[in-house]
Amino acid sequence: MIQLDFENGQWGDLEVVEQKEIEVHPSAMSVQFGSSVFEGYKVYRVEDKFINLFRIKDNYKRLKNTCARLCVPCPSYELYFNALDMLLDTSSIWSEPIDSEWLYLRPIILGLDSHIMPIISNRFKFILLAAPIRPYQGDSLNLWIEEKYSRAAQGGLGYAKTAANYAHQFLPMNIAKKNNCDSVLWLDASTHSVIEEGSTMNVFFKIGDGFYTPKLTDSILPGITRDSVINILKEKKQPVIEKAISIQDVLHAIKTGELHETFVTSTALGICSVDSIVYKGERYKASFTNKNSGEIRDNINEIYSGRYHKFSDWIHSKKIVGR
Ligand SMILES: *Cc1c(COP(=O)(O)O)cnc(C)c1O
Repeated sequence: MIQLDFENGQWGDLEVVEQKEIEVHPSAMSVQFGSSVFEGYKVYRVEDKFINLFRIKDNYKRLKNTCARLCVPCPSYELYFNALDMLLDTSSIWSEPIDSEWLYLRPIILGLDSHIMPIISNRFKFILLAAPIRPYQGDSLNLWIEEKYSRAAQGGLGYAKTAANYAHQFLPMNIAKKNNCDSVLWLDASTHSVIEEGSTMNVFFKIGDGFYTPKLTDSILPGITRDSVINILKEKKQPVIEKAISIQDVLHAIKTGELHETFVTSTALGICSVDSIVYKGERYKASFTNKNSGEIRDNINEIYSGRYHKFSDWIHSKKIVGR
């Protein structure tokens, strides 16, 4: 992993170290009060010759926005890129514990100062972890529409990739699992009527001829996969509608037979079809085809490997050394 310390208002030197536990004081701001941000990023290896980095500048931009919301210092783009570059040059990360052409990267920034009171930390640690992954081949998902609990409130942290957005989802996720669902589909916190997103995934509905996805607000994480799907669909001259979508809109589309497919999007899972949704104790079929999600998944994989006819500017190719 890569390690980088922030002290006295500046970042130190990048260091590659063996992935291991780090020493953190039990009362560190990150441990007690959630002064902690992260990113999720995937790279693709092309025939042992190149590593393709996907929309790296957009990924950095989101990290910067998250850091600003959490009062966490953000490394410069140059430093961030150098950290990725340095780790990708470390040959062992590509084969341990499995050999794969896909590598998942997890940058984290942690507040280290320890204090009884929640105050802004002066010391931080940037860590970049890597793990080879196999593309998700799982079945389509069944989602629980949560009516009582909320993921993110207006004016809160929903748009930021920070620790505080996940642990409170575990209890409702357990409820979802007890009801034979895989995960939760969240409604807005104030009215519990407008669809926002999944636990770690954005959502799309193919209704009639159009692809609908919730319009971004400050309580929705702006997924890079979401944005890529929108661009790919528009490039194919498909109508994409970003607007507030209520659960009633979706139920109505199911009733009239206009809902063709529901799918969720994320870097880690890719594009994943949603088989059913459960709302107020009733299960509704949410996909009658997986054609759309399948095609878009193929397109995104083609972009990663440099075989798609458009969006080559989303890829930064890096020569593989030392492998
Ligand atoms: C990371 C994440 C997503 C997906 O974002 P991608 O950039 O597509 O990986 C969606 N929702 C939440 C809450 C997330 O944490």
